[in-house]
Amino acid sequence: MPTLAERINDLLPQTQCTKCGYAGCRPYADAIACGEAPINRCPPGGAPGIVKLAGLLECEGLPLDPECGAHRPFEVAVIDEPHCIGCTLCIQACPVDAIVGASRLMHTVLPGWCTGCELCIPPCPVDCIVMVPVQPPREWLPGDAAVARTRYEARQARLAIHPESLRQPENPQDRSAAPAIPTPPPPDRQATVMAALARARARRAKGSET
Ligand code: SF4
Ligand code: SF4
Ligand code: SF4
Repeated sequence: MPTLAERINDLLPQTQCTKCGYAGCRPYADAIACGEAPINRCPPGGAPGIVKLAGLLECEGLPLDPECGAHRPFEVAVIDEPHCIGCTLCIQACPVDAIVGASRLMHTVLPGWCTGCELCIPPCPVDCIVMVPVQPPREWLPGDAAVARTRYEARQARLAIHPESLRQPENPQDRSAAPAIPTPPPPDRQATVMAALARARARRAKGSET
């Protein structure tokens, strides 16, 4: 019989984004289960997620806590590859090993595995990672959560045994097991990506002036 925390965790989006203020979905589930946290701190889950939690816990629903951030449709990270300096900091931050690359080499996000958690953005020293909506636009789905959870747990297990692998989670030459990397995006997505990258370049240019 699953514990209450496990049943709560099963309802959470598994992006591991930490926007709830906890170190991941399971710590937040633990906090809810023991009455230490309210059910409205998960932006990726949004209002539907709160309804599910309220149903499980037989309590009143609440509006999403704005201090945790707003709910947004599913986005994925894109690296402005010509500007990447190959520092590997984004790889270390990614909870689901959705970034491949090697020291001093260009890095790439595998969009089929990206959860949109945004954890790779703050560590990037050259601000070359942007978030773009998936096309066609859609919400993060339970199937996405299942994949993300498997990858997160596999990463945690690997790091427990091989902490030194943090810098190089997988062979960047071996993408055979990864979901297909999209070939050039369709024109509308291309425009979205280019606009996002232009904003990132403008931010860099502004930063270099100060
Ligand atoms: S997906 Fe929700 S529960 Fe999981 S870490 Fe992010 S905010 Fe917390
Ligand atoms: S690539 Fe970035 S946004 Fe995507 S899962 Fe990894 S850390 Fe999160
Ligand atoms: S953090 Fe930025 S510069 Fe460093 S490897 Fe990742 S994308 Fe490239």
